[in-house]
Amino acid sequence: MTAAALRRPLLAWYRRHRRDLPWRRTSDPYAIWVSEVMLQHTTVRAVQPYYEAFLARFPDVHALAEAPEQDVLARWSGLGYYHRARNLHQGARHVVDRHGGAFPRTLEAALGVPGVGLYTASAILSIAYGAALPVVDGNVRRVLARVHALRGKKWVRDAPYYNLSEELLDRDSPGDWNQALMELGATVCLPRRPACPACPWRDDCRARAAGIQEDLPESRRRRAPVDVTVAAVVVERRGRVLLVRRTEGRLMGRFWEVPQTSLEGRGLADLVEELRARHGLEVEPGALVARARHAITFRRIRVEAYEGRLRREPPRDPERFIWAGPDELASLPMSSLTRKVIAGACAPQIPLDLGAR
Ligand code: SF4
Repeated sequence: MTAAALRRPLLAWYRRHRRDLPWRRTSDPYAIWVSEVMLQHTTVRAVQPYYEAFLARFPDVHALAEAPEQDVLARWSGLGYYHRARNLHQGARHVVDRHGGAFPRTLEAALGVPGVGLYTASAILSIAYGAALPVVDGNVRRVLARVHALRGKKWVRDAPYYNLSEELLDRDSPGDWNQALMELGATVCLPRRPACPACPWRDDCRARAAGIQEDLPESRRRRAPVDVTVAAVVVERRGRVLLVRRTEGRLMGRFWEVPQTSLEGRGLADLVEELRARHGLEVEPGALVARARHAITFRRIRVEAYEGRLRREPPRDPERFIWAGPDELASLPMSSLTRKVIAGACAPQIPLDLGAR
C-alpha cells in the first residue's frame, strides 16, 4: 500500500470524527504547548479542566514567565509529574528572554527550550505553524506497527518509527496529519480490542488481515513495580495542619507535605529519627488516623498517617514550615497523595482506607 493511499482516508476520517478538544480550537503555539505538556502521561479527560484553569490563570507565555513557581505548581496540583510544570515554567521564561515571547519556528531553536523534546517540538511546530515534522508517541507507534504488521527487535525502538512517520507525513497538512494518527490510536486503534470495523484503514491493515492486531506493537520490558511504605504525622492545631517543604532536586521538590519518611523496617522509630534529622522536628506519633495508597511511575506507595504531637515548636522558617488552614491547603503545591492523607486524617468518619488513585 502506498503512502498516498493511506493518507486520504485517514485525513478524511479525522476531519469528520475528531473530538472537539479545547486545544484544537486554537493555533496559538503557547496554548498548544501547554496542552502537549499536560497530555504527557495524562488522559485527555483528566487534562481538560486543568488546561482551561491553567490558561485562565496564565493566558499567555508572558503571564506564565512572570508567575512565581509556587503559583504554577499550585495550578498543576493533582496532575502529577510535576517536573513538567517546572520545565514549562522555565521554558516560558526562556521563550520570553530569548525569543521575545514568540515560540521559535525552527526545530533547532524549539529544542533549545527547556523541557521541549523532539516529540513536543514537532507537535507544536506542525500544529501551530504547519511545519512538515513527523511525531511519534505511543498511539502513533501502535497504529504504525499494526497497519504495517511490524515485528522484531528493530520495532521496539522509536527511531525507525520516526522514519516511517516521516515517509507517511502529509506535507500539505502536517498538523492535521499528526493529530489524525494520534487520534486514530487514541479512539479506534486501542491497545486492547481495537475497533477495526470503524477504522479508515481497515482494508489496508496487515495486522488485521493476519488477525494479530492485539499482539502489536511488541512490548518493551517494563520495570517491575516496587512497594514502598511511608509513615507520616499529621500535627493539627486550631484547624491548621503542619506542613514541611520538600527540598529542591528531589521528586516533587519544593512541594509541601505532612512530615513523613519511608519506613526501612524499624517502624515508627525510623519516623521519629528521620523527622529530627531531616527537619529538626521533635514529634511524638500517636494513633493511626489514615491510610492511603498511590502509584507513581513504578512505585506503589502505601502511607500510614499518625496523629502527631510536637515536643518542641518547629523552627521559625516560613520557607520550610507552615501551619496551613483550609485556604492554604487548597492553594499550596502539594501532591495528590498528601491531599489524600490530610483529607483522611482530618475527616476520621471517612473509612480509613482511601484507595488507589
Ligand atoms: S484496522 Fe484495526 S488494527 Fe488496523 S489500524 Fe485500524 S484499528 Fe488498528
